[in-house]
Amino acid sequence: MSANSSSAGMAHPFDPDCIFCRIIKGEIPSFRVYEDDEFFGFLDINPVTPGHLLLLPKGHYPSVLDVPESMGPALLRGISRLGKAVMHTMNAEGFNLLQNTHEAAGQTVFHAHWHIIPRVQGDGFTHWPQSDAPGKERMQSIAEAIRALSA
Ligand code: AMP
Ligand code: ZN
Repeated sequence: MSANSSSAGMAHPFDPDCIFCRIIKGEIPSFRVYEDDEFFGFLDINPVTPGHLLLLPKGHYPSVLDVPESMGPALLRGISRLGKAVMHTMNAEGFNLLQNTHEAAGQTVFHAHWHIIPRVQGDGFTHWPQSDAPGKERMQSIAEAIRALSA
C-alpha cells in the first residue's frame, strides 16, 4: 500500500493491485455516479437490481473495520444522497444498504464498500431466512459480552 494524492490534495492510501483503487484512479472504466473528497460511487457491474451501486472510500481500506471513524459523516451523506437519487432514477420505493465484511460474509473485493440496491414492492427478492433464536439466558450473555466489548 502506498500514498496517493486525490484531486482535492488529500493523501489517500492506495493499493496498485486493488481493482477498486484502480477504478477510482481512472485506470479501469466504471459507470461513475458519485464523488466527493472522501467517497466515490459507481454502478455494480453485476447488479442485483438495475441501479445497484457501490459507495466506497477513495482510500484503500480493506474492510469496514479499517475505515477511520471520522469518515462517518461523509459516508452517511453519500448514502443519503445516493439513496434518494437512485430511488428517484429507478422509480424504486426503497433500497437495501448492504456491507459484506470479510470472506465469511461474502466480501469478494477487499476495498471496503457499501451496496445500495434499489427495491420495489413485489420484486421477488426475499429476506434472509431466520434461524431459531437462542434461549433467553444465552441472548442475555451474548448481549452482555457485545456491550462490554463495544463500549
Ligand atoms: P462484495 O461481494 O461485497 O465484495 O461485492 C463486490 C461487488 O463488486 C460485486 O457485487 C461485484 O459485482 C462488484 N464488482 C466487481 N468488479 C467490478 C467492477 N469492475 N465494476 C463494478 N463492480 C464490480
Ligand atoms: Zn483499494
